[in-house]
Amino acid sequence: MTQVRPALASIVDGVRERRIRDVARAITIVENGGPDAEALMAAVTAGTQSGEHGGTSHRAQTIGLTGSPGVGKSTMTAALIAAFREQGRSVAVLAVDPSSPFSGGALLGDRIRMQSHSADADVFIRSMASRGHLGGLAAAAGQVLRVFDAAGFDVVLIETVGVGQSEVEIAAAADTTVVLVAPGMGDGIQAAKAGILEIGDIFVVNKADREGASSTARELRQMIALSVEDSPAGEHEQWQPPVLTSVASTGEGVPEVAEAIDGHQRWAAGHGELVRRRRQRAREEIAATLTGMVRRRLASADLATRVDQVADNVAQGRMDVHHAAGELWSVIGGHVAGEDQDADQDAGEPS
Ligand code: GDP
Repeated sequence: MTQVRPALASIVDGVRERRIRDVARAITIVENGGPDAEALMAAVTAGTQSGEHGGTSHRAQTIGLTGSPGVGKSTMTAALIAAFREQGRSVAVLAVDPSSPFSGGALLGDRIRMQSHSADADVFIRSMASRGHLGGLAAAAGQVLRVFDAAGFDVVLIETVGVGQSEVEIAAAADTTVVLVAPGMGDGIQAAKAGILEIGDIFVVNKADREGASSTARELRQMIALSVEDSPAGEHEQWQPPVLTSVASTGEGVPEVAEAIDGHQRWAAGHGELVRRRRQRAREEIAATLTGMVRRRLASADLATRVDQVADNVAQGRMDVHHAAGELWSVIGGHVAGEDQDADQDAGEPS
């Protein structure tokens, strides 16, 4: 364990210099969690605050890309990478994979499609399983974004499959969320049902080379107009999500998508929306991290007997669940932050 620290320091340096191997190592450490992940995040964040990025953390522009499987997300991601690279911007991609942890199955094809960028040092692509994170997906993704930020990437694309609520939330937590739909099949209506209408800052009807693209775009525009009308007038001017069409496989319409993303970013920066979203993202990340801490603390050996007692009381109807939670909260409250030290000492030593 003692030789971990210098290795960690060298990884942190590597991240700051955007050495791809170190960025990859850092993400693996973050995904595995535990004390190393905490030390790494602290070092990486300290660098982002006072380092060469002018004291601004979150220098990277984050873009969430979501939509049903097969709609063209990976193709669009590859096309957007090319568009941003043409402008000289570096790009990191986090592809959230709904398949089981480390299987790599679902994304393999997509990765191969993005191989054309693999020789480019200013492009980094990483997939992450959506399951298997102790502190939750939001916390894990948030930390990966911080690593990308520390590495100084200009653009971070988060590609998620819009099936699970947590994946949709990740995409929605970006500075700008792009929702891809396909023509026909009532995809627009499906989007409305799935609550995707609310999260999109930009809608793209991809596969516009297929029939029905313009009617799907029209349908979407009508639904968006209605939902914008419906939402209560806030104190700030509302963003009107544009509906674009594209053929991601040929690159048609992709520069316009990139332009719309930058347009939204400028609007969000000028209307306080960027600050609001980033605060909200941090809030979610803190809550998710705290949830993970509480769960680990409840599972620790020294609390096992106590937790079992309280659980029995609830199971047998002697205690209501809120009372039970309150009781355990008073036991662990204040000790959550020091869980790792506690956990080390606790092992097999019931009090
Ligand atoms: P994902 O599952 O959303 O990531 O979708 P993919 O990017 O893997 O695309 C699914 C299939 O649609 C692939 O065979 C792509 O080549 C194809 N595809 C992507 N964009 C377009 C498009 O604009 N037009 C057509 N005709 N096919 C496309």
